[in-house]
Amino acid sequence: MVKTEQKQQWERADFIVEKEIETLLQEAQKTRVEDIRTIIDKARKAKGLTLPETAALLQVTDKSLLHDIYAAAKEVKSRIYGQRVVIFAPLYISDHCVNNCVYCGYKQDNPFKRRKLTQEELAEEVKLLENMGHKRLALEAGEHPVECPLEYILESIGTIYSLKFKNGSIRRINVNIAATTVEDYKRLKEAQIGTYILFQETYHRQTYREMHPTGPKGDYDWHTTAHDRAMQGGIDDVGFGVLFGLYDYKFEVLALLQHARHMEERFGVGPHTISVPRLRPAQGMDINKFPHLVKDEEFAKIIAILRLAVPYTGLILSTRERADFRDRLLDHGVSQISAGSCTGVGAYKEEADSEESTSVQFDVDDHRSVDAVLASVCASGYLPSYCTACYRQGRTGDRFMALAKAGEIHNTCQPNAILTFKEYLLDYASPETRRLGEEVIKKHLPQIENPKIRSLTEEKLSRIERGERDLYF
Ligand code: SAM
Repeated sequence: MVKTEQKQQWERADFIVEKEIETLLQEAQKTRVEDIRTIIDKARKAKGLTLPETAALLQVTDKSLLHDIYAAAKEVKSRIYGQRVVIFAPLYISDHCVNNCVYCGYKQDNPFKRRKLTQEELAEEVKLLENMGHKRLALEAGEHPVECPLEYILESIGTIYSLKFKNGSIRRINVNIAATTVEDYKRLKEAQIGTYILFQETYHRQTYREMHPTGPKGDYDWHTTAHDRAMQGGIDDVGFGVLFGLYDYKFEVLALLQHARHMEERFGVGPHTISVPRLRPAQGMDINKFPHLVKDEEFAKIIAILRLAVPYTGLILSTRERADFRDRLLDHGVSQISAGSCTGVGAYKEEADSEESTSVQFDVDDHRSVDAVLASVCASGYLPSYCTACYRQGRTGDRFMALAKAGEIHNTCQPNAILTFKEYLLDYASPETRRLGEEVIKKHLPQIENPKIRSLTEEKLSRIERGERDLYF
């Protein structure tokens, strides 16, 4: 538990103003169709949206206006991210948990045999992930100060970064662990994590209390100010997320943007990524008892509106969504996807050994292999990317945002996507995906606008073909 002296320093999450959100949503109902069209036109210029503008779009139900919102989101995505889609996988290292989150399969009251990976088991999981082609992981753990203290997390990060395989290694570890102290965030920063990710679950105080009846996670203020402390601890890139399905999605989107506004005002930079997990069945919960479940069409709208509201923030979609829907959502603004995911501790090995995985955090809905996901990403005209260069080159926080806003990331992200995808094709792809992928590279190479960088990329591609790895800008 956190000590009382520290507790006195906690800040209240006063930047989430429920009254403002209610007023915004009420006012937005009066928006005229021509005003909606003006907002969409403004959004198409990738200038972002104000809260009232976002509220107005959230109230849209008309099919033809929705169609325009989707088209605008696609346009903005293409302008900022080109056709790139970053690929990653989650890695669960411990399912011990002192919380009782109503929706979560890892809740303390669920009776199953808990485990955490030994460093040897961890190495095996990482080897399997690397064998699928992964270079970027999201490290996941339940909250348990005794069974899974920060020292264990840090040791695990050290182990993962130290592992070298024939064709490479894990080059970026993002971390999704419970809210903690500035001191702990400093240590995570020293361990060279990429993004610190923490999902808010719900921004609605009353619902938050109901969803987190016991355990440290039940403290709304402690949880909601975690990203502030991460920034104070020197972590430049933080990731937000809402677990859609716990409360009214319109409220959640506006609250999330209030949170982003707060970070921008206080630290000069908003969230690096936003994740959009949607509630899934899990052990010890009945999904039909949640009154705010989000329908597919609403979910597509949420993603498109977020893309328009915060054009420079990465949008992350997981395998909670089914395959065909994930492919469609790439068009609405998603820029990062997980692939080949398992959501249990030691589950990659269990799956490789064809053992039944017993205790997962929630059920996934996209069961395709990494190779199948990449083939489908390519078939949809997108370019998979395993790039991890930004944080290794110091392009983080406000420095990244400045480059992104100046359109400069095209000159690094596009070549890096091509180079890392080339590695994938040579080292891990099936013959069919390799064939498709080579076509995709051929198509995307000329899109590098700067001729000098284009020719340097071609040179690096030849070096990769001759056996070199991990070349980047
Ligand atoms: N212990 C950390 C914490 O408390 O935030 C790590 C979070 S957990 C490993 C990752 C995320 O999975 C949670 O933040 C939650 O949003 C999501 N999750 C939990 N149960 C879920 C469910 N039934 N369906 C979909 N997502 C779920």
